[in-house]
Amino acid sequence: MATLLGGLMGVVLTLLARNAQDVVPGLQQWARATWLVFVSAILFALRDLLPVAMSVTLANAMLIFALLLYLQGSSLYFQVRMRWAGWLVWCGLCLVGLSWYAQVEPSFRWRMAFVLPAMGSIMGAHAWLFWRQPGSSLGRRFTVLTLSAMTLVFALRWVHALLWAQDDGHLFAPEGVQSVYMSSYTVLLLLITVGFVLLASERMREVFEFQATHDMLTGAFNRRAVLDRLTQELARSQRYQGVFSVLMLDLDHFKHVNDRYGHQVGDDVLKRFVQRIGKILRPNDTLGRLGGEEFLVLLPETSPAAAQATAERILLAVAQDGEALPVCTASIGVTSWLPQDISVDDIVARADRAMYTAKGNGRNRVECA
Ligand code: GH3
Ligand code: MG
Ligand code: MG
Repeated sequence: MATLLGGLMGVVLTLLARNAQDVVPGLQQWARATWLVFVSAILFALRDLLPVAMSVTLANAMLIFALLLYLQGSSLYFQVRMRWAGWLVWCGLCLVGLSWYAQVEPSFRWRMAFVLPAMGSIMGAHAWLFWRQPGSSLGRRFTVLTLSAMTLVFALRWVHALLWAQDDGHLFAPEGVQSVYMSSYTVLLLLITVGFVLLASERMREVFEFQATHDMLTGAFNRRAVLDRLTQELARSQRYQGVFSVLMLDLDHFKHVNDRYGHQVGDDVLKRFVQRIGKILRPNDTLGRLGGEEFLVLLPETSPAAAQATAERILLAVAQDGEALPVCTASIGVTSWLPQDISVDDIVARADRAMYTAKGNGRNRVECA
């Protein structure tokens, strides 16, 4: 039953990977590993029909490789490098021991003694990978819990095999502890794949949320997101009377940059513009692209004088030469919240007027309104 459900999870992960493998790194590896686990479970189950080399050695090798693939999937997910060479040597050694006690000197107990350290160490490393990552979400907590439980099951089974077991068991022995181990192992493996589905959907949500609120070219917030934040800030000020400021920025003669150097260079100038401003702003400030070469900066809890100083610093940073791109200056209009402001449009219109005054007064300058 658990094996069948495992196959079903393989289908789910494969379908997810088809649609979202660019968005969720590692998803493809998780899907392939789930299929491998499924096939190995079938080999284990056919042990009366298949030669030992297939039903024991090959099946265990596939399972170990599947666990490594799971680990690789998670390493890709968290962008951590995986040390394949070390793992392959270590698992290879364990498999040599396993196949000796499968084919040369058959002993279930010693097979366990060799194969469980490989599986347990992969699971332990996998759990540790999750523990190390900052932040927590339902998917992460769920997965780390199941991975840790699985490590524990492998460790207990190993100690058990070495200390107490008689050498008369086999994998599917119905009586006693082996059946407890087998069921916890299959159920946990199933839960781990459920964890991967959770992780994938969490990552998809994060990416789509980012795409819905950010400008794809520059990485700044998009128009809707920055105006949303401005709306929230306005509501806060209307309630608590705290002042905030807004900068309206527009690149000077940007059309010339496009005409002279091409659209691609124009795009690069826009990206650099955003990077340079990002270095000047505080973590709570918001930079958004309103469209074209027009940007808005929201400065919470910032007085008109402090906002003007920030704008001057932006001008200096933007006008800097360098990085093989043409210099392109900006004109900035500065305004701050006034108690009579009723809507976001009042503030934006005022900042816009100040920006056009800066254009009229010769560009590459700051004007306040
Ligand atoms: P001014 O100093 O008066 O602002 O002059 P300007 O040339 O910057 O202003 P104008 O509004 O005439 O031109 C803006 C140009 O920005 C025109 C448009 O082709 C270009 N532009 C808008 N969006 C993009 C973009 O995403 N990439 C590139 N490369 N150019 C863009
Ligand atoms: Mg312009
Ligand atoms: Mg413009």
